Amino acid sequence: MESESGETNNVVDAFKAKILAVDDEVRLLDLHRELLTKAGYEVYTASSGNEALKLVKQMSFDVMLLDLRLPDVSGHQVMRFLKKNQINITVVVISGENSVDAVAKVLRLGAYDYLRKPYLPEELLKTVSNALEKRSLEQENKAFQARLQDSDKLHRYIVNSSPDIVYMLDQEGRFTFLNDRIEKLLGYMKAELIGQHYSAVVYPEDLPLARFVFNERRTGPRSSRNIELRLKYKDSSSPNYFESKALSIELTAMGVYSRSGGDGKQKFIGTYGSARDITERKKAEEMIHFQAYHDLLTGLPNRVLFKDRLGLAITHVKRNNQMLAVMFLDLDRFKVINDTLGHAMGDRLLQAVSQRLQGCLRAEDTLSRFGGDEFTLLLSHINCRQDVVVIAEKILAELNKSFMLDHNELFVGASIGIALFPEAGSGLDSLIKNADAAMYSVKSQSKNGYQFYSKEMDKYCQSRLMMERDLRRALEEKQFRVYFQPQVDVNKDEVVGVEALIRWEHPSKGLIYPNDFIPLAEETGLIVDIGRWVLDAACSEIKKINASTGRNIRLSVNFSPLQVEQPDFVNMVIDILHRHQLPGEALEMEITENIIMKDMDKVVNKLRDLSRYGIKIAIDDFGTGYSSLSYLQQFPIHTIKIDRCFVNEMNTGSEGRCIVNAIIYMAKGLGLNLIAEGVETQPQLDYLKQLGCTEVQGFIFGKAEPLESIVSALSQRQQAKTAANYESSVGPA
Ligand code: C2E
Ligand code: MG
Ligand code: MG
Repeated sequence: MESESGETNNVVDAFKAKILAVDDEVRLLDLHRELLTKAGYEVYTASSGNEALKLVKQMSFDVMLLDLRLPDVSGHQVMRFLKKNQINITVVVISGENSVDAVAKVLRLGAYDYLRKPYLPEELLKTVSNALEKRSLEQENKAFQARLQDSDKLHRYIVNSSPDIVYMLDQEGRFTFLNDRIEKLLGYMKAELIGQHYSAVVYPEDLPLARFVFNERRTGPRSSRNIELRLKYKDSSSPNYFESKALSIELTAMGVYSRSGGDGKQKFIGTYGSARDITERKKAEEMIHFQAYHDLLTGLPNRVLFKDRLGLAITHVKRNNQMLAVMFLDLDRFKVINDTLGHAMGDRLLQAVSQRLQGCLRAEDTLSRFGGDEFTLLLSHINCRQDVVVIAEKILAELNKSFMLDHNELFVGASIGIALFPEAGSGLDSLIKNADAAMYSVKSQSKNGYQFYSKEMDKYCQSRLMMERDLRRALEEKQFRVYFQPQVDVNKDEVVGVEALIRWEHPSKGLIYPNDFIPLAEETGLIVDIGRWVLDAACSEIKKINASTGRNIRLSVNFSPLQVEQPDFVNMVIDILHRHQLPGEALEMEITENIIMKDMDKVVNKLRDLSRYGIKIAIDDFGTGYSSLSYLQQFPIHTIKIDRCFVNEMNTGSEGRCIVNAIIYMAKGLGLNLIAEGVETQPQLDYLKQLGCTEVQGFIFGKAEPLESIVSALSQRQQAKTAANYESSVGPA
C-alpha cells in the first residue's frame, strides 16, 4: 500500500477525498497517483484485486479507479464484493474493453462510470470530480431524507401527545385527520370518525354554536379562538361519562387554503382545529360560583343567593297577586353549645339542624344559612297564614327533638319570626328586617316559638337600640353601682365574703337588674368595659367595708367569658388589685363552666397565672352548664357555687336533694370549697348544714345591698354578736 498527500502547503486537509487506484500496471498506478495527488486528493494504490479488497476492509474510500483485468480476482468480482458487503464507494471502471456489453455489465454491477484506456489526464480528473460531486449530492440527499423522517416523526409525536384534540376537516366538514387524543377524551376510535361529519361529536345542544366555529373558513385574527363548546362522549364506557355526558372544550380553528388554485385564487380545502379539555377549569369555576352563593358548612344558599331568590319571588307574587312568607330562625341554645363543646361540635350541630329544616320544607321553598346560627326561609307558594303556621310548628317540633352527636344529647330549640308579603313589607330588605324583629320578639319573651311580625315589634327593636345607646351612656355617666351580698359561714356564724353584683341606676327607669342588661352588654362587647369598671369599683369599696368593720372580708366578682378572652385579662385584674393595694387572696373570681370549655389551653394558662397570684377561682351556677368533671380537674379551681335552682328544688322532692348531695359529695372529694346560692328558708339551710355545706349565700342572710347598707348591716351583725358573746360569758342576769 502506498499513499502520498499532495500537500501544496503544510496544512493537512482533513476532508480530502480518498481515492483508491487499482491496476496491475505499476506505471499506470504511478501516473494516477501523480495526477490525482496534484489535484489535491489523497491517493492509495493497489496492484491486485486482493490487495484492493484488503484495503477497503481496513478503511473507507470515496472513489475507486478499478481496472477490470487483474491478476488474481477480476474487477467484476471486486465490484460484486463491494455490492454484497454494502461498501459505499463510487467505482469508476478503467479498462481497455470497449464493447457495449462490457460497459453495461459494469454499470449493472454498480459502477458509476466507465473510462476507456487510453484516456487523457483531464478526462480522468473530470470523471473523478464528477464521481465525487455525485457522491456528495447523494450523501446530502440521504442526510436530508433522514432529517425529513426525523421531523415527520417529531411532528407526529407532538400532535399525538398533545393534550388537545387536533383535527382536520375537508370542505364539507368531514374529518380527514384526528390525533390519538380523541380516543382518550371521548372514547371514539380515530378510524370510526375519519370521513364522518364533525357534528357526530358535538353535544346536540351546542350544534348551533358549533356550526360557525368547528368548520371555520376564516384565517388569521378573524378565525375562531378559545370558543367554549361541549363534545359528546361516545358511550357510557368513557371515563367521565357518568359525571356529565358532555366534555367541555375550548375550540380554536382556522380555514386551510391550497397554495395555488387553477385560476390563481386560493381555494378553501378544509379546516384545521384544536380542542382543549377545560373540564378542570369548568369545575373550578363552578366551585367558585358555588362558594360565592352558598354556605360551605351546610351547603345551603347564603344570604346573597337568598336575597336574589327573594327578589325574584317578590316580583313574581306581585305580578300574580299572591302571598309569600319570609321566616327568620335563630337557634336558642347554640351559643352555649358552641362555647362549651367547641366549634367542631357546633359545626356538626348546624349541619344536623339544616338537614332537619330541609326535611320540613317543600321543593319550591328556599332555606338559607344567613350567618352564625341564623337561618332564613322563603316560602313562596302560600295561600294563607295557616300554611305558614303549619310549617313553623313542624320546624319547632323537629328542632325540639334532641340531637345525638357522638355521645352528647343536645337540645337547641329555635325562635322564629315571620314576615308576610305584602302585609309585613313589600321590599326584600324590609321583609327580612321585619322577620328578624319578630324573631327578636320571640327571643325576648318565651323563646322557642314563632311570631308573625306586627308594628309593635318595631318598638321593641327600637328599644333594644336605645338600650344599647343608654348602656354606653351609663358607663360614661357612672350610672352603675356595685351592690354586695353577704356570704356566711354558718358554723362560725360569720360573714366571710361578699359577692359584688352590678346594678344600673337608670335616671328615668329606676333600678335595673343585671339579667336585663348583661346579655345585651355581652352581645355588644360592652361587658369588657363594664366588667373592668365593676372590678375597680368593687375593690375600692371592699377596702372601705373592711376598714369600717375592721375585718378581712373576701370579695367575689363575676367575670363574663368575653372578659376572660381578652388578651390582657390577667394584667388587667392584677393591675387593678395592685392599684388598690389588695393582695391576690382578697379576690375570688366567679366564672361559669362555659368559659372553661371555650379555649381550654388559653383559659387554663390564664387561670393558673391568676391562681399563682393568690386569686381564688369559683365556678358559678355549677351544674347548669356543659362542663365535664374530668375537665374541671385540670383547672385551678377553689370553690364551687351550687346554683340557686338546685337549692330551690330541694324543697320539691328527692331529685333536687340528690343533685345537691352529689355536688357536695364531689366537692368534698376534690377538696373544694362550697358555697350554696339562693338559700331562702330555714329548712334549706338546715339540710345544707347537715350535709356539711358550710358557706351559704341567699336572702335568708340578706339581699345584695349598696356599700352603706352593707357596712351598717355588717356592723349591726357584729354588735349583735359581741353582745351575744358578752351575755353568754356573763351568764343570765
Ligand atoms: P349570680 O352570679 O349567680 O348571682 C346570684 C344572683 O342570685 C344575684 O342576682 C342575686 O341577687 C341572686 N340571689 C342571691 N340570693 C338569692 C335568693 O336567695 N333568692 C333569689 N331568688 N335570688 C338570689 P342578680 O344580682 O340579679 O344577678 C344575676 C346575675 O347577673 C348573676 O348571677 C351574674 O351572673 C350576673 N351578674 C351580676 N353582676 C355581674 C357583674 O358584675 N359582671 C357580670 N359579668 N355578671 C354579673
Ligand atoms: Mg356570681
Ligand atoms: Mg350564681
